Amino acid sequence: MSRGTLAKISQSALLHNFKRVQEYAPNSKIWAVVKANGYGHGASLVAQTLTQADGFAVSTIAEGIALREEGIKQPIILLEGVTDSAHIAAASAFDLICVIHCDEQLRQLISYQEIPPLTVWLKIDSGMHRLGFSAQEVDQARQLLSSIPVVNLAGMMTHLACADNPEQNVVTERQLELFHRHVTSNDCISIANSAAIVSNAHWHGDWVRPGIMLYGASPVMDKTANDLQLRAAMTFVSPVIALHNIKRGEGIGYGHRWHAQRDSIIATLAVGYGDGYPRHAPDGTPVWLNGEIVPLAGRVSMDMIMVDVTDLASVSVGDVAELWGQNLPVDLVAKYIGTIGYELVTRLSPRVDHEMVD
Ligand SMILES: *Cc1c(COP(=O)(O)O)cnc(C)c1O
Repeated sequence: MSRGTLAKISQSALLHNFKRVQEYAPNSKIWAVVKANGYGHGASLVAQTLTQADGFAVSTIAEGIALREEGIKQPIILLEGVTDSAHIAAASAFDLICVIHCDEQLRQLISYQEIPPLTVWLKIDSGMHRLGFSAQEVDQARQLLSSIPVVNLAGMMTHLACADNPEQNVVTERQLELFHRHVTSNDCISIANSAAIVSNAHWHGDWVRPGIMLYGASPVMDKTANDLQLRAAMTFVSPVIALHNIKRGEGIGYGHRWHAQRDSIIATLAVGYGDGYPRHAPDGTPVWLNGEIVPLAGRVSMDMIMVDVTDLASVSVGDVAELWGQNLPVDLVAKYIGTIGYELVTRLSPRVDHEMVD
């Protein structure tokens, strides 16, 4: 029984965006990144749609196990690896590849009595300073790993800090230069997130790791999703549940943050911060309704928002508004709210139903 507040997930948009990754990186294998429940789209829906992906990347072991239990057969990599022996055992049992990024993880492997077979990738910190062995540590880490017979070192990876911003290309080039000093031409390498995939073919490596571009938002600062020919995979919709005629000067919602500058018609939508629509969205944040953009009016409540529909030609209770998606780019909405599309799509709450559409 749905109240009509839905995340519609477009299978054809996901497939289209995946094809865009293949067009950008025709010579690379693709880890489709489906962490955080497929960026809020439903990890197993996404994985079952992207059957051509060479593998899937997730953050946590629970995410990896959930995909295996859904019947996903491709390689699955845990981008943060695992930190204790029970998790190593589970990773091996569920055939999950572990990123090894720090000494603690290495020591866990070395001290594990009768360690089960495990495939790993070694992560180098080339300048992001989030995860990975430093340039000083990495060669020794590699030696230690190769001394454990059942551990198969499948590749070397790193992550770029500034690939989304062409003005910071010197930072990216410095990272790549450092990374390449510690890998050989025989190594299988992985470098590129979405931003790196669309920015420079020299940054791709053997395996690319697209996340956000699969979902149809732009990974770079200087281009829109439309510029990159990406299509919104999620369209977040909610129905009008009430209409009110408001006199000029009246205040709307909690704290009366918004006041009518003229006699106005206000529509109430069945979506609020309890669904993942951010409470700090300011007045004027765009909402799509009946073919037009209408502005948010007043504070976001837990279960509802209000929009000013005075200028709409027609509006009725039951009309369905789009918070972001096909007609209203999530990146644009995010700009008003002071965040990025990634956060909006990822933070939908479990109360929002998902519906697979074509
Ligand atoms: C999340 C993540 C990605 C995907 O990043 P996008 O910007 O969404 O393409 C790639 N690699 C790593 C290590 C990640 O954590």
